Amino acid sequence: MENKTFALENARILDPESGYLNNNGVIIVDGGLIKEFGSKGSVEIPQNASIIDCEGNTVMPGLIDAHLHVTGQRSGKIEESLTTPIGVFFARAVKDLENLVNAGFTTVVDAGSLVALHLRDAINENTIIGPRIVASGLPLSMTFGHADTHYMPIEYVDYRTSKKLTPFMSLICDGEDECRKATRYAMREGADFIKVMATGGVLSQRDRPEHRQFTLNELKAIVDEANAANRWVHAHAQGTEGILNSLRAGVKVIAHAIYIDEVASEEAKSRNAVVVPTLSIVQRIIDEGEKLGVPEWGLKKSAEVYEQHINAIKLAYKHGVELATGTDFDGGIGKMGTNAMELKLFVEKIGMSPLEAIKAATTNAASAAGLEGKIGVIKKGSLADLIVVKGDPLNDINTLTNPNNIKYVFKNGTLLKKS
Ligand SMILES: [Zn+2]
Repeated sequence: MENKTFALENARILDPESGYLNNNGVIIVDGGLIKEFGSKGSVEIPQNASIIDCEGNTVMPGLIDAHLHVTGQRSGKIEESLTTPIGVFFARAVKDLENLVNAGFTTVVDAGSLVALHLRDAINENTIIGPRIVASGLPLSMTFGHADTHYMPIEYVDYRTSKKLTPFMSLICDGEDECRKATRYAMREGADFIKVMATGGVLSQRDRPEHRQFTLNELKAIVDEANAANRWVHAHAQGTEGILNSLRAGVKVIAHAIYIDEVASEEAKSRNAVVVPTLSIVQRIIDEGEKLGVPEWGLKKSAEVYEQHINAIKLAYKHGVELATGTDFDGGIGKMGTNAMELKLFVEKIGMSPLEAIKAATTNAASAAGLEGKIGVIKKGSLADLIVVKGDPLNDINTLTNPNNIKYVFKNGTLLKKS
């Protein structure tokens, strides 16, 4: 149905950005864009339009996961990436992308995975079905940083020298010059944006979330190179110092933010940064990590930060920081297609209303994807990334966590799911 003209009739239209709700609406899609919308009778339906009856179900922008890793992992075991051929990871990831579409996700931001970088191109040329992928490709890490996967032998870590292709390779760089070069290299390989590791983490063996990684000047060099090529930077930043360094260097998207405090919240607000907490991954590690083979040190650190993380994000929410949904799922820890879990956690743990959580998963997540105003809204001229949802997500956010409730999925006006 690409580039065809069609009308969604009998639609309960929900625009999360404005809160606009219309129980008897019509949306006209033409050339992949939303051409017109409004109440039945007030919108003229073009003669050549095919009609889709939404049967009173909710029509809203497609969901966006603003931080995940499409890798084709199937466990939390650190040896999996070395013992599995890269082709197997790609094949599994194709399935994972279908599951994301079936769950109503029309865009995902991949914050570090070679697999996603290449599958993005396969989706764009219509070889496989998947959500729009906005990909960083290879993340930047300092030596002994979060993506210098230091639990593995060093010869399997850096993409430029690795003995085997794995989903989680990175670019190791130290000092401003190497940081500039690595940023340029990531863009050469096709990065839509740059991912940096600005602090230690939970799933890196010998550091901690509180440790700052990369200096302020290294981060500034990375942001400068990215901005010069009209790209933005998305930082893994968990400890307070790393969050502040990232913000002050001009990083646009802060992921995880386990130790975000009042000062950092104000800094994020004044700079219009978006924070993507990824509560889901911590929850999943706590619930299923042992079964999935997550190493002991990962289980221990997850348990340690769990309460802190939730309290910090509550504080950021009270300060009015722009929050977006992201899961940090990689297919092993966190099955693709269950990503609406983050909306549920925003409601249940952070105290958002369902509408606020939906806005975080659409309008706000669009900012984190560098597509503000183009997706995540129902607006004349925005891309027709739309889902039709059975039930009332404004009343019960769990409506969105069950893929069976997602009746239709359109991306760019192209029908990807009908059930
Ligand atoms: Zn991540």
